[in-house]
Amino acid sequence: VGQISIQEVSKEFVNPDASKENIHALNGFSLDIEPGTFISLIGPSGCGKSTLLRLIGGLDNPSSGAIYLDGKKIEKPGSDRGFAFQGSNLFPWLTVEKNIAFGLKARHIYKDSQKDVEEFINLVGLGGFEKSYPHQLSGGMQQRASLARALVGHPSVLLLDEPLGALDAFTRMNLQDEILDIWKKYNMTVIMVTHDVDEAIYMSDQVVVMSARPSKVEIVIDIDLPRS
Ligand code: ADP
Ligand code: ADP
Repeated sequence: VGQISIQEVSKEFVNPDASKENIHALNGFSLDIEPGTFISLIGPSGCGKSTLLRLIGGLDNPSSGAIYLDGKKIEKPGSDRGFAFQGSNLFPWLTVEKNIAFGLKARHIYKDSQKDVEEFINLVGLGGFEKSYPHQLSGGMQQRASLARALVGHPSVLLLDEPLGALDAFTRMNLQDEILDIWKKYNMTVIMVTHDVDEAIYMSDQVVVMSARPSKVEIVIDIDLPRS
């Protein structure tokens, strides 16, 4: 499970400047993603990377076309997809533990929740910080908590929007390897937006290069690096 088929997806936004045309964030975008693949999306700012991720997450719907997950059309968020953003987006008024448990509530998973929360707190190395608040954690630890929040409930697809963008180089390199370990352990499909070409090549099976408007060309590059 975790097979994604993106079929002729377009997304238009009304231009905030009403005298201008609609913004075509995506224009007939198609891509098939095999289960268990690690894909990176790269391309200039504004080319539609975040929009595509949000559509796969079901946080928004395409203007035309459709996205299927394991043959089922995506129309809203679901427990089969976990989402982590840049800057972690943790709730400042909730402890680490409660922030992560919120990932289950948000996706309507109640079964085994405490067990799952504990499993993922330990997995991302935050054991002992259950009762800490986000502001008491470093940036890397906040990003780990955000990752745990996306992983609770064992999604088949993990969606990462520049998860490491705000981190220093050292923390970033460590977390790259941690994310790869988690990916291998849980055998998920991962789709990650990044600005860092080296990161994309290091982490992915495939790098999808999206171009800026108006041409809207997409190129898929298969990466065949030996993995340890
Ligand atoms: P990227 O992630 O590649 O930087 P985005 O997907 O965020 O690009 O945005 C693609 C284009 O769509 C940009 O021109 C952006 O300004 C526009 N856009 C994104 N979301 C909205 C929105 N909710 N309303 C209007 N325009 C939007
Ligand atoms: P990113 O850097 O990941 O592309 P942005 O900072 O461009 O993210 O966008 C952050 C959020 O604001 C997104 O949820 C996007 O949908 C929304 N957004 C982006 N551009 C616009 C816009 N022109 N008008 C309204 N919302 C927008």
